[in-house]
Amino acid sequence: MPKTAKTDSVTARALPRTALVIGLLAALLAASSVVGYRAMARTFHLELARDGYEALDLYGEMTRGWLNRYRMLAPIYARDPRVLAVLRDPSDAAARDDLQAEMEIWNVASGTSVTYLMNMTGMTVAASNESDSDSFKGMNYGFRPYFREAAEGRLGRFFGLGTRTRQRGYYFAAPVRDGDRTLGVMTVKIEVDALERDLRLSPYQVFLSDGSGVVILSGNPIFRLTTLAPIDPEDALRIATARQFDLSVITPAPITQIGSWLDNQLPVVRAPTDRSEVQTGAFLHLTEPMMAEGWTLHLLMDTTEVHHRLWYMVLLLLACGLAICATATVIWQRRQRLLEHLRVRERMQAVLEQRVLERTHDLSAVNQKLRSEVGERRAAEASLRQSQSELIQAGKLAALGQMSAALTHEFNQPLTAIRTYAENAAAFVDAGATEKARENLTRIQRLTERMAQLSRHLTRFARRSQDTVERVSLRDTLNETLALLQGRLERADAKVTITGNQDLWVLGGQVRLQHVMMNLVGNALDAVPEGRRPEIDIDITQDRDQIMLVVQDNGDGIAPEVLPRIFDPFFTTKDVGKGLGLGLSISFNIVKDFEGALRAENRPEGGARFTVSLQTAPALTQDAAE
Ligand code: ADP
Repeated sequence: MPKTAKTDSVTARALPRTALVIGLLAALLAASSVVGYRAMARTFHLELARDGYEALDLYGEMTRGWLNRYRMLAPIYARDPRVLAVLRDPSDAAARDDLQAEMEIWNVASGTSVTYLMNMTGMTVAASNESDSDSFKGMNYGFRPYFREAAEGRLGRFFGLGTRTRQRGYYFAAPVRDGDRTLGVMTVKIEVDALERDLRLSPYQVFLSDGSGVVILSGNPIFRLTTLAPIDPEDALRIATARQFDLSVITPAPITQIGSWLDNQLPVVRAPTDRSEVQTGAFLHLTEPMMAEGWTLHLLMDTTEVHHRLWYMVLLLLACGLAICATATVIWQRRQRLLEHLRVRERMQAVLEQRVLERTHDLSAVNQKLRSEVGERRAAEASLRQSQSELIQAGKLAALGQMSAALTHEFNQPLTAIRTYAENAAAFVDAGATEKARENLTRIQRLTERMAQLSRHLTRFARRSQDTVERVSLRDTLNETLALLQGRLERADAKVTITGNQDLWVLGGQVRLQHVMMNLVGNALDAVPEGRRPEIDIDITQDRDQIMLVVQDNGDGIAPEVLPRIFDPFFTTKDVGKGLGLGLSISFNIVKDFEGALRAENRPEGGARFTVSLQTAPALTQDAAE
């Protein structure tokens, strides 16, 4: 079928298209997942960075606050007259002792590590730790940058390792002025351990690097005195000159950049998560410059939480994707089922159409056959009708012939007799024998009487009864019939037996029914051959609204060839002059007029049986009965 082929090709085209759509959807899903993942990762890192910068501000403030606490000490101490006195007269031991005692007090009171005074050559002339073994007194710090800055009249500041103590410290230095002249430099050294302790309490890894990239302060000792980048040769020279750090112990910081956000503005680094340096993790590396000190504040923010959140989101996305895929699959499968259903329906329809076509074809063939059969049947009917009408015609002619033969015989015989008797009468009149002539005339009279009776009989046969039907008593009818036949019955010494209920009423006409009974009983008498005593049984039975009157005899029965024609008019087997062949024919029509039936058959034990079926007369109302 062309329709099915079309459907199949549509399906064939639909399949790769569906696969293409699914592929595109999957690609779209994957691409959007990647884009979504990156967008989320970026957002999460930015959120983390925002928190980090807030923390950085806090730590910056904390560091600055901490430094500011000590910043003004040196300038204030520089203005003390005892300081000036020592510088003015370096040989005054008492003044120097006095100052050193004061310095010790200042030191303890302000929380600084060491307070000391240098002359313009950088030689320490007084120090708070004068009594200590590693006292600064007598040491020359002219190479230190803070000395030079202060000697030039500015506030000197410096971070470095103590040349004697090997301890890291922060130095503030201020010039000691005598009028316009600078006589020396007043310095305080601060221990950085306290600041580091504060940094160590931070939930993040916080550290500070100086201008040359060396980590000078760190909550995590791993980063302490490491470099974030190779030290510039110029810086290296400066460090060596100022004896800031021992360059040989400075190692690269265990930090490697592994990525970044916002065009490298937010680097992501791999760094140790704790002091053991065993475990590493990914951190967002945030920095903030501290202008006054020339330092940079660093903050490493652990991105584990971000990755956890990302994983949750990825899982969520995957779950969503899977749900979408599952839904899409279900929809697709439903669509496929629907398509399959449609295809099956189309196929079925095609098969059905094919069958209808075949059936229609068969039907039209059958129709054609029927039509030709009808034609043949019609032709046969026409020829049958033709034959029938011919037969009827032939039957009519036969009946006419039969009737003519019977009538000719019935009339010819008396006519011949009449002629003979008339001739005799004429001869007797001529001879004067009037008595004899009368006798012959009387015979003629009887013969004409017989012919008249014959004529009446014929008239009755020909006439269609218009008489109405009425209630007729079977008993009365039977009695009258037997009375009329009494003479014949006695002559034949017949035995008549009546059984059954005679007190029944039927629908009919008394005289006509009597005629029927007379015929049947008369025929029964005729049927018994001479020398046998006729036995006629009349039986009456009732079956619902039908009454059956059966007349049977002990004659020789009806010959098989006679039986089909027994009710035909003018059919007789009796000798000429004994029967006209109209009795049963008339009786048949009479009973039919009563809406009954007359049936003839042979008794198994011999003899004939005639059954008259009649309608039971309805019971009379009380008035009518009276
Ligand atoms: P008909 O008595 O004048 O011959 P019916 O019409 O009465 O005319 O009878 C027709 C024929 O039916 C009879 O000639 C006879 O052959 C046959 N027939 C009628 N009654 C009997 C009977 N009881 N037994 C045998 N044959 C009968």
